[in-house]
Amino acid sequence: MKILVTNDDGIFAQGLWILVKELKSIARVIVVAPDREQSAIGTAVTLHQPLRVQKVRSMVPEVETYSVEGTPADSVILALGKLVKNKIDLVISGINHGANLGDDVLISGTVGAALQGYLRGLPALAISVALGDNLHLDAAAKLATVLARKIKSNALPTNILLNVNLPNLPLVKIRGAKITRLASESHTDTVEERHDGRRRYYWLIRQRVNKATDEKTDVWAIEQDNISITPLHTNLLNKPSPAITDSLCSELLEELGK
Ligand code: MN
Repeated sequence: MKILVTNDDGIFAQGLWILVKELKSIARVIVVAPDREQSAIGTAVTLHQPLRVQKVRSMVPEVETYSVEGTPADSVILALGKLVKNKIDLVISGINHGANLGDDVLISGTVGAALQGYLRGLPALAISVALGDNLHLDAAAKLATVLARKIKSNALPTNILLNVNLPNLPLVKIRGAKITRLASESHTDTVEERHDGRRRYYWLIRQRVNKATDEKTDVWAIEQDNISITPLHTNLLNKPSPAITDSLCSELLEELGK
């Protein structure tokens, strides 16, 4: 199995390399990722300037690694269209530092990258961990590996784009796993006005809505210390997603040793 790994936190992010290290135990891994942080860049694709790519030394031995002066989506398009010679079986974007829940998916560079894999007919995962003081990335790396194994053995539909989020907890403290849908109204955007002595300027501030949301949503699952797995599809709200049932969750937890 050959897995393309990318992210939106940039090629030096801890989450990327923890994921690569874990995936390497079951697959050949290739990393193509932005050379700097690109969080909240969404699905952006660079069309008005050339893209430069550098083959760089990997932080995990024997992993072909490219650094891209572009967006997460650019990275996947370049990887699948040019850089990777043999067929890729799965695209994984993450592990993002910070959850991508509800309407986050529309601006998330993590999801934006996974989307490019999905649009090219590959199974794709976006995987994120909620922010906290100490980031617990191990459970997410293990879960990505378990999901990759399931995809390898055809235990999941191949036309999937899964948005996976984990609470910021060690595996033993995670309560369970839920198949969810995206929460609506998950954020409020506020604008703060400042002045630098010469001109006005503004900060956009995104704040998560903390009120209890509907059950079965991703925000709800994470608030209850569960893993949230949301099947996404690209015609937004129009079409049901491929059938993924709750039984997947118990299987995953069992394979994670819980
Ligand atoms: Mn990010």
